[in-house]
Amino acid sequence: MSKSWRPATQLVHGGTTRSQHGETAEAIFLTQGFVYDTSAAAEARFKGETDGFIYARYGSPTNDMFEKRMCMLEGAEDARATASGMAAVSAAILCQLKAGDHIVAARALFGSCRWVVETLAPKYGIECTLVDGRYLQNWEKAIRKNTKVFFLESPTNPTLEVIDIAGVATLANQIGAKVVVDNVFATPLFQKPLELGAHVVVYSATKHIDGQGRCLGGVVLSDKAWIDEHLHDYFRHTGPAMSPFNAWTLLKGIETLPLRVKQQTENASRIADLLAGESKVARVIYPGRKDHPQADIIARQMTGGSTLVCFELKGGKEAAFALQDALEIVRISNNLGDAKSLITHPATTTHKNLTDEARAELGISAGTVRFSAGIEDGDDLLEDFARALAKVAG
Ligand SMILES: *Cc1c(COP(=O)(O)O)cnc(C)c1O
Repeated sequence: MSKSWRPATQLVHGGTTRSQHGETAEAIFLTQGFVYDTSAAAEARFKGETDGFIYARYGSPTNDMFEKRMCMLEGAEDARATASGMAAVSAAILCQLKAGDHIVAARALFGSCRWVVETLAPKYGIECTLVDGRYLQNWEKAIRKNTKVFFLESPTNPTLEVIDIAGVATLANQIGAKVVVDNVFATPLFQKPLELGAHVVVYSATKHIDGQGRCLGGVVLSDKAWIDEHLHDYFRHTGPAMSPFNAWTLLKGIETLPLRVKQQTENASRIADLLAGESKVARVIYPGRKDHPQADIIARQMTGGSTLVCFELKGGKEAAFALQDALEIVRISNNLGDAKSLITHPATTTHKNLTDEARAELGISAGTVRFSAGIEDGDDLLEDFARALAKVAG
């Protein structure tokens, strides 16, 4: 396995191990356990003197291939595949904290991520401060003596704000805290948090990594020392392990990740440009456009735009519903990163549980709409949007 392979090559060949049959595609090892030739072999395996698997909750061959392939892509030393993105996020945060510790997190978080730090962690005596993560001074001001973890997503959901990851990592290193980045929206192709100084990266593999709407999955990646010290035992004994069947689905999914993300980004960028020239649209936020409010940070830390577009219709909820209902190819769904183009109205779906005030803080209004570009022909998507926009009252 060559570390110098470029992503498209890594994602087809990385981590593959073949059985005695020499199968072309990765094999699915749907087994709970493993057998040993002798008692002494079992003893040696349990002592860690020989390599090999012990029990599927700890690790198994198909999952191992998925973890190694993700490590290669991310430039990480080690990884653990989890049953869902939220299993990855909650494990990455909770495994390294104890009562009395403090988290600083950006307030613009995926709903369940926000629940983990804002509601669950305090039940165990872990305090959390939520900040407007766009400004580094807010992170600095929130630091306490017991701050151990900084947690963020960038770009954020749904308003595609970005956070200066290298800047947050510098602050964290000054106090010995760890930066955990949920990198779902950027995808591993457009942003490398570990290279920017973050310590731990998490993904919901449910999104672009599967990319075809089939299964849930997640992954936590970091250096070996952090995984050994914090995640290894937590993962083994709390049991968030990914199903080997899903690991196999995701292994096949990531083979085509670069092709899909390229097409999705091109489609997203064309739709963003169309919307920006439309009088019924108040504003368009797209990380690939020069008019993104934080274009300077994007130029420093991302190598591509986004597969998502956020925009605000002047006509509020009524206009947003009219547009969504008039689209024929683009389907209404709160999911994202799929081969199919999807659209959602955050105020009434993904962000309905927030107070009006919290939604306003995040820039989510009644007219805010989030579009996740699929891999369809871009001309068809443009025609679908043009036709649907014509039906929205001006
Ligand atoms: C979807 C998502 C998650 C949760 O992932 P699941 O696989 O649904 O558990 C976490 N963070 C972000 C940014 C997401 O988009």
